[in-house]
Amino acid sequence: MLKDLSCSICAGTSMPHDVVDFNKSCEENNGKFLRPSGVSIYYYLCHHCGFCFAPEICDWPSEKFSKEIYNSQYIDIDPDYKENRPKNNAAHLSKIFNGKTEHIRHLDFGGGNGSLSDALKGFSWDSQSYDPFMHKDINITDLGRFNLITAYEVFEHVPDANALMEQLNSLISSDGVILFSTLLSDGPIKPNTRLNWWYAAPRNGHISLFSKKSLQTLANKYNFEIGSLSSGTHILYRKVPDWAAHLFNQGKKTN
Ligand SMILES: [Zn+2]
Repeated sequence: MLKDLSCSICAGTSMPHDVVDFNKSCEENNGKFLRPSGVSIYYYLCHHCGFCFAPEICDWPSEKFSKEIYNSQYIDIDPDYKENRPKNNAAHLSKIFNGKTEHIRHLDFGGGNGSLSDALKGFSWDSQSYDPFMHKDINITDLGRFNLITAYEVFEHVPDANALMEQLNSLISSDGVILFSTLLSDGPIKPNTRLNWWYAAPRNGHISLFSKKSLQTLANKYNFEIGSLSSGTHILYRKVPDWAAHLFNQGKKTN
């Protein structure tokens, strides 16, 4: 019998929720199914904050992530990660911060091969990329502080959301904004139902699935306010800088 675990976000009781095959991938949403691996991955659900996670994978050493998830076949189950997504995100950022870029020192956190940052440099941004998986030799305290950090499709991949927040906290300036994307699980994940949500995909490394309440709890733990620009794009901040004020007039739905 599987035991309950403590939720890493709110310390509430997390119960075994469901089990899926390791090869369940986000591409199932596009009608592409991988052959089952035969490896069972259990997801747990916190009944207090709604955080849903795969504890076994969260405990993997980083080499195992490289071998089993972020390997040469990763592109097959996340075909947009190399080019399309960074290109689209760069175009979107350059649009929403049009005319404000001179005020921005930008870091793309978890930016893989740096495509997003490279594209933004093409729009004359002061931008750099840092990926904890690829830049193990970089000490993040050497990077300095940034007033805009983006983290696209990062939160659902991390085995330890508290460690991620500590890293972001050490990189963001006091009047900075962290803009990140992750889909909220409110609705798709409910107690006493099967875990059918396409985003709950171990093969993609989606091991930390956030509800609105769990994101709010995580943000508050690190003294951030949180707002959402859309159902999948969120902002963390303490003080709204002038150059980002326009975002808050249109967004800020979570509070
Ligand atoms: Zn919780």
